[in-house]
Amino acid sequence: MQNLSAVQFKNDFVKNFKGDESGDLSPRQTPGVFYSKAIPTPVKKPTLLAWSEELANELGIEQPQDQKDVDILGGNLVTTTMHPYAACYAGHQFGNWAGQLGDGRAITLAELKTQAGKSYELQLKGAGPTPYSRRADGRAVLRSSIREYLMSEAMHYLGVPTTRALSLVSTGDRVMRDMFYDGNAEYEPGAIVMRVAPSFLRFGNFEILAARNEIENLRKLVDWTINLYYPYITGEDKIITWYKEIMERTAKLMVEWLRVGFVHGVMNTDNMSILGLTIDYGPYSFVDDYDPNFTPNTTDLPGRRYAFGKQSSVAKWNLGCLGGAIAPLFENTEELVNVLNGYDDFFWMQFYTMMGNKLGLDELRPEDITMIGEFEKVLRMVKPDMTIFYQLLMDVPAEIENEQAVVTHFAESFYKEPTPEQVEALYTLIKRYADRIKLNTTTREESQETMRKANPRFILRNYLLHQSIEELEKGDNTLFEKLQQAMKDPYSKRFDEFFAKRPGWASQKAGCSMLSCSS
Ligand code: AMP
Ligand code: MG
Repeated sequence: MQNLSAVQFKNDFVKNFKGDESGDLSPRQTPGVFYSKAIPTPVKKPTLLAWSEELANELGIEQPQDQKDVDILGGNLVTTTMHPYAACYAGHQFGNWAGQLGDGRAITLAELKTQAGKSYELQLKGAGPTPYSRRADGRAVLRSSIREYLMSEAMHYLGVPTTRALSLVSTGDRVMRDMFYDGNAEYEPGAIVMRVAPSFLRFGNFEILAARNEIENLRKLVDWTINLYYPYITGEDKIITWYKEIMERTAKLMVEWLRVGFVHGVMNTDNMSILGLTIDYGPYSFVDDYDPNFTPNTTDLPGRRYAFGKQSSVAKWNLGCLGGAIAPLFENTEELVNVLNGYDDFFWMQFYTMMGNKLGLDELRPEDITMIGEFEKVLRMVKPDMTIFYQLLMDVPAEIENEQAVVTHFAESFYKEPTPEQVEALYTLIKRYADRIKLNTTTREESQETMRKANPRFILRNYLLHQSIEELEKGDNTLFEKLQQAMKDPYSKRFDEFFAKRPGWASQKAGCSMLSCSS
């Protein structure tokens, strides 16, 4: 274990690719380069608020003992082996080509090689302007930094592929934000998260090179990505094999989001990881009352492009953009189109397997596919709390007596009293389900164990995050600490104090149901 300030870092990305080394932070287009050197802008008083000990252990880094290490986490100290930069990328935002975007408020400090031979990029989010900040300030507020810090770690413990967060520091500076874009800007406390991932490359890093017709640069980035992050892919067909692998990883990620009820909220192509990780935590949310049409992002409201139930099809659309970006490396687009056409079959296969686990089925039988469809239909109708519903499903009695028994069993998950029509649909479904469970060749205990692993019991609901943020802004970290404990054990009953529906007051409150991108 080493102090952060003593680590000898690597900088393979900047060594291998051309960058703008001027250090000029003024906003501009940067054709011909992959990144621009960007030194973090110092803040008033970096103070450590949270530290991910388990991640730190994996990285071999000691918890900061002195101000020097905290200064690194706050962007006030750059050590001699670091080469901080902001990556240049583009993207499709809400379905439209947005041109050059880039790391507007993220600065990668360096790469760290662990003793186990793994490589990680260390990135500060909110460390000040870069050439890609456009008219914004390059900063992040405490509320959004807490959300990124907690949620990326929570997703890790849920078993969902994600970037990680090592630290959260408050900056001592205040940041101006117009939270609802309604002209009511206010000063909020600033903060910085140190994010960690093997790579922060996005679909957009490839899109920009194609858009600028920098084909040799594109080929170089693709080769580098495959060699480093997909080293098992070799041979003449390696680029198409790689594209297929990204397609599969992305589809699996979408299935994982559906499993735990996660809505990302801003699935622009610049927020799609080339490694299939959940990346860029902004106006995300878990689903409380089941609704495939739910989007947590106020900016997404008119079209609901990024709603819970649409994420899989948007992911496919985004994969199409990536395919378009790497198309210049192929003689024709046939193979790419074939891979993309395989997305639906692959996704549905993964989806049904996942649902089979959520429902505790021993295997998928043809009739199960229709039953899974019925679950979807009835959940849409009744709109119970998704997390609580599946927890209650685990203990559904083998013999269903009557409609009333079903209503009583699931009562804890209802936000609204179900109508007679909904009760009937739910009763029919649960009866069918109970009969199906009896056909399992495995024991009930085994089936429940499968369900226990597939269905989280603790999720970081927006209202909990909201409460912990309000308290932390007042200097009370009790709930924040508690949530950090609970998120590490999301499948157990240890934190049942949080096993409850979203309270009534939270359904309309700003920051508890809907969020904006302003962070
Ligand atoms: P997002 O929708 O959060 O993924 O952001 C889209 C683009 O806007 C990215 O290029 C970000 O780096 C940039 N951006 C968002 N917020 C800020 C900010 N406060 N300062 C500078 N750039 C920002
Ligand atoms: Mg982004």
